[in-house]
Amino acid sequence: MLYYSPMLLGLCLLVAVAIAATALWHMSRPYSGPGFWMAGSWSLIGGIILFIGFILTGSPTLNVLGNAGQLAGEALFLLGIFRFMGRPLPWWIVPLSVSLMVLFNIHYWMYEGNSDFLMGIYSTIAGLLPVQAIVLLLREKSDPATRPARLLVGFSLLIYSIVTLLRGYLGYHDWWHGAPYVNPYESFSYLLPYNFAIPALVMGFIGVTLMTMQRILANSQQHAEQARNSAMRFERLLGASTSAVMIVKAGLIQDANLRLEQLSGLSRDRLVHQSVLALFPESSHDLIQKHLSRTHASQLDVDAVHANGQHFPAEISIAPLGEKSDDLVVEIRDVSHRKALEEQLLLLATQDSLTGALNRRAFNAEAQLAIKRATRYKRPLSFAILDLDHFKLINDNHGHLAGDQALQRFADLCRAVLREGDIFARFGGEEFVLLLAETDTTASMQLLERLREAVNGLILEHAGEPFSLQVSAGLAGWEPGDTMESLFKRADQALYAAKTSGRNRVVLWTANTPEGATGI
Ligand code: GH3
Ligand code: MG
Ligand code: MG
Repeated sequence: MLYYSPMLLGLCLLVAVAIAATALWHMSRPYSGPGFWMAGSWSLIGGIILFIGFILTGSPTLNVLGNAGQLAGEALFLLGIFRFMGRPLPWWIVPLSVSLMVLFNIHYWMYEGNSDFLMGIYSTIAGLLPVQAIVLLLREKSDPATRPARLLVGFSLLIYSIVTLLRGYLGYHDWWHGAPYVNPYESFSYLLPYNFAIPALVMGFIGVTLMTMQRILANSQQHAEQARNSAMRFERLLGASTSAVMIVKAGLIQDANLRLEQLSGLSRDRLVHQSVLALFPESSHDLIQKHLSRTHASQLDVDAVHANGQHFPAEISIAPLGEKSDDLVVEIRDVSHRKALEEQLLLLATQDSLTGALNRRAFNAEAQLAIKRATRYKRPLSFAILDLDHFKLINDNHGHLAGDQALQRFADLCRAVLREGDIFARFGGEEFVLLLAETDTTASMQLLERLREAVNGLILEHAGEPFSLQVSAGLAGWEPGDTMESLFKRADQALYAAKTSGRNRVVLWTANTPEGATGI
């Protein structure tokens, strides 16, 4: 009998829907909604199977459970629509519809009620259940991508609702007119939902599948758009960066920003697939190679080369691009400007700005080293203090500017006479000091005499008036146990002797040199 009834076809259609709903739930996770449709369709099938069991056995329990299962399934399916559309879930429809049906069923079995009336009640509840969801589906304007599918679901549920309510009406009609009992397999009103409502539900399910697919598609388009945007932002970021940035894989440049083109003088086409080593002089290739093979971020300061062959000081940072990839981000910053500033700062900190000689602090540092070397290797070392004679008069007669020029010319002259390794410093005013490494006092005397004569030979001129310079010097030779202080003291005594014995001379300190006075 069942075989000839659309009930079997309806049941099979619903099984197909439930399997498809399960697949939809599985492949669309983590979207919410399909889980309810899956649960709803299985519950509906469970309900129908129990109901068929009731028809075959006449068991009231199966009837109650069958009706409850079908209504719960329908309600769950509807909840899925609310969940999918991000609306608050009307949970109450599940217990309300199920308990209403159970109550009427119990009443029917206890008081031997009319089965047409019971069917009328069931169909009224089942027909009214989807109204809320239909209104939502047909009226919702947002999310235009899923709107056609939403309309399909809305109209399918509307057909379902109308058919079910019609079935309810037929139930009430038969009950009212006392129609004789008809086997459900042959009853027009019993078979109405199987012939029309289930196909409507199938159409509704196709609609929710389309809705879900549409959303997956829209989201993946959105993700693709986001990925495009973030790639674009990354490009722009690289473009805006003031340092030259490149992506390096296995030592080869994969991508480079505009700054790298400027810094290297090579076009992007020539940079890409070029070895990163090409940007550096050969002497630093080994070092860079070592840094490239490291797995952690590192930095190094080396020279880089421009395509025109010019070298420039650069700061290089190398870092892995991601944890999993073996790509590296290599950044090159041209630090010539900073290096020049550093050099300038160093000069300012160690040089006298007027004459370019070392200042007192720099002299002290260098002298300490020279004395240490002399002590350790027992090498000769001489120290001299030079003081221009009657320099005050030059200032008084020719002006301070002339005095400044004289100091500069004097310093130039000293530098011309001195050798590399000699330490020459301005100690203040018109006093200079000289530390002559690897030089004994005899050689130092000769050098100082030469210098003194050269100073005498200088013809200076200011405002058309010529003038000359003279210098006195006190010389002391390093002796074991000497410190800079003791050496200075002896040279100062010798200078005093030079000043007091007539100036314009070099005096070497001896044990006979008078103590106590200063020549500066
Ligand atoms: P002497 O050493 O032969 O005994 O005589 P002096 O006149 O050179 O000695 P003193 O130490 O008294 O004078 C040094 C002068 O040097 C005084 C100061 O005006 C001048 N002087 C010091 N520093 C500078 C400077 O930077 N520029 C100029 N133009 N003059 C300076
Ligand atoms: Mg002087
Ligand atoms: Mg002086």
